[in-house]
Amino acid sequence: MSDDYIQGIGLSLLSSFLTTALALGLLSIPLRRLPEGTHWSMAAKEFAPVRTAQTFILVWSVLFMWIFSSEPRDFESPPETWQLFLVSCSIVAGCLVGSRVALLGGEIPKTARNWKSCMLLIKWVLFPAVPATLLLMLLTWRQGLDWRALVIAAAMLALLLPLCTGTSVVLLKWLRILKPAPGNIQQAGRRLAEREGAPLKSVLTMKLGIVNAFASVWTGDLILTSSALSVLNEEEINCVMAHEIGHLNESRLMRWRRLIILPGLISMGLMPAAASSGQTMAVFGFVAVYIVLRSLAHHHHNRMEVQADAAAVRSQISEGVYARALEKIHAAGLIPADFAAGHPYPSLHDRMISAGVRPDFPRLVPASHRRGVFAALAASAAFLVLWRFLILVAGG
Ligand SMILES: [Zn+2]
Repeated sequence: MSDDYIQGIGLSLLSSFLTTALALGLLSIPLRRLPEGTHWSMAAKEFAPVRTAQTFILVWSVLFMWIFSSEPRDFESPPETWQLFLVSCSIVAGCLVGSRVALLGGEIPKTARNWKSCMLLIKWVLFPAVPATLLLMLLTWRQGLDWRALVIAAAMLALLLPLCTGTSVVLLKWLRILKPAPGNIQQAGRRLAEREGAPLKSVLTMKLGIVNAFASVWTGDLILTSSALSVLNEEEINCVMAHEIGHLNESRLMRWRRLIILPGLISMGLMPAAASSGQTMAVFGFVAVYIVLRSLAHHHHNRMEVQADAAAVRSQISEGVYARALEKIHAAGLIPADFAAGHPYPSLHDRMISAGVRPDFPRLVPASHRRGVFAALAASAAFLVLWRFLILVAGG
């Protein structure tokens, strides 16, 4: 390996990190400039493009690098898999720094400041389907769509199935990342489960900066984050637990329907392989399968949320507690109050109204993905330009 080659790789890492962090910093200027006393829903709306850009910078930078890769590689020979992996890592690091800068504004709730890194961790450990899809892309795109790619995809699906049906939670319990919740919370959870006739095994807690709760429908566990325990009061915690217990009551068929997204993600994982071997029809087929299964999964998820919300409202001792808990969760995590159609979660306004409370803040037009998507496009192009420029400067 020549010195030039190693230098080229080092410069690709430096440029991708810098352009990612800078793009997110610039994109978040409107968020940081919000006047004092701005309602959290406005801050959440302004933060949404930053969140969108993070995903798209990663996807497009890797894609651009593959298509337009400059020195030390050229168009004829795409970059190595490990080089793309290293650049992906440096973009993730740039995202962490960039989102930290984005959240420096005075109107950002304290709980939202460490949102990104925690969310990435919890998403990837508890929901391993997305990192597995990215791994499938990395492992197959160079060789094209052949029998080996299909074997790798089948193996990935075989690994994902047990992980998504409870093994991830068992693993986290074994690693002591998931620990039993305090005694009074356990007792309250058991009382609620008994009343709803739900198969609750245990209430667990996880040290996390985000205010949220999850139901592990396959193991019968209910997970509350440590921040949820500190931000929500006892009555609100009970309502949130009742919502998750509502999920534990989902039928076996409903649980399996939740997994419908897995073959969709595997399809998407094989798409770059089909593209690199020039199989255009297969590319469109994989994307179509993904879009159809994703919309089915979101629709199903949305219905399950409405059902679980009804269980939470039933458990309320005093009116309005559940709606207040939902608002606290959204505000603490800067989760937008209004989503576009087709989102897996109903909008906060609708959920609060169903829970018997008229929100005291206006409905906002759902945050458009466009700003985040264009910023990501510009950041990915800037990465390649900067990389090329640094190579020229270093080469004298
Ligand atoms: Zn839910």
